[in-house]
Amino acid sequence: MISIVIPCYNEGKKLIKNTAEIKKYMEQLNTEYEIICVNDGSSDDTGKILKQLSSIKAVGYEKNMGKGFAVKTGIKNACGEKIIFMDADLSTDLCAIKAALEKNADIVIGSRTMNTSDVNGKSFMRNLSSFISNLIIRVLTGLKFRDTQCGFKLLSKNAAELIISKQKVNRWAFDVEYLYIAKLYNIKTEEIPVIWNNDDDSRVNLIKDSIPFFKEILNIRKNKKYYLSD
Ligand code: UDP
Ligand code: MG
Repeated sequence: MISIVIPCYNEGKKLIKNTAEIKKYMEQLNTEYEIICVNDGSSDDTGKILKQLSSIKAVGYEKNMGKGFAVKTGIKNACGEKIIFMDADLSTDLCAIKAALEKNADIVIGSRTMNTSDVNGKSFMRNLSSFISNLIIRVLTGLKFRDTQCGFKLLSKNAAELIISKQKVNRWAFDVEYLYIAKLYNIKTEEIPVIWNNDDDSRVNLIKDSIPFFKEILNIRKNKKYYLSD
């Protein structure tokens, strides 16, 4: 069984179409699967729409907690031996699912910076901010990946359970925390190139979110002992 986890914050406009698309893609893979949508305290009609969708498992809570918390909640509710999380806007082309399932690694992360990645529609400012933040992440955490922030990742159930048992970051830097914990525990992590069609409808605010993001990155470093403790 494969679990697909979608964190959803004010995604009411996209959910019907995009969950149907995921369903169609998964059906042709001929594998058992479930789609789990986590309503991260949305203020639009996300909750109402999720209740109407019979083909998905809907979970959620009232207050907006951040993408990292939403993914953690999704993982807690997942039954699959492999868990994939991805963004509700389907910016990552779904063909990444098959590619990730074919890899023999406990963690597979989508990357927009490999030679064969195909990235469309990312603005100059988003490209610049990705470049700078990935550089800072590499320097501060020692991680080697050039795109930690791609919204598409696969984790084995074991890796996911270990990681969320240590997870402290609730917002945008949670991907970095996942990869940092994985490195501490020698969990095999591989990258795959993705096709990325950027959706400009974004919940990221480059000005407001940058400082909390880098504070989270610094905390990840400080938490090293905690991650390694029993
Ligand atoms: N998201 C969330 N909680 C938040 C912010 C975002 O669950 O507080 C989800 C959002 O619904 C989407 C994913 O995280 O599925 C990525 O968000 P977005 O597409 O806005 O980010 P971007 O593509 O601009 O990086
Ligand atoms: Mg997006």
